[in-house]
Amino acid sequence: MTYIIAEPCVNVKDGACIDVCPVDCIYEAEDIMYINPDECIDCAACEPVCPVTAIFAEDQVPAQWKSFTPKNYDYFKGADLAALKAKSLSLAAVRKQQQAAH
Ligand code: SF4
Ligand code: SF4
Repeated sequence: MTYIIAEPCVNVKDGACIDVCPVDCIYEAEDIMYINPDECIDCAACEPVCPVTAIFAEDQVPAQWKSFTPKNYDYFKGADLAALKAKSLSLAAVRKQQQAAH
């Protein structure tokens, strides 16, 4: 299993989940964060810290957001993980600058 990030994260992306994930398996993308299903250890640490309740155990994703499960899987399918990580770190750096400026 894995945890899945759904619609409420879009354009919120505050990064609280990234800060608590013990295995760094949450990747920042332009519009939303994605959890790598191969790296997630199902610890549930991310779920309660999300301010907009966007994170769900895979088998508990609400019906209206079910499409986010394949979306999360697809983001990593055949992808260059090092490149996704580099992109995630650079987007996170920009976000942290913006958060610090507010
Ligand atoms: S469940 Fe744990 S390992 Fe998986 S994304 Fe959340 S914090 Fe990371
Ligand atoms: S804590 Fe929630 S809103 Fe914030 S980045 Fe993670 S999934 Fe998105």
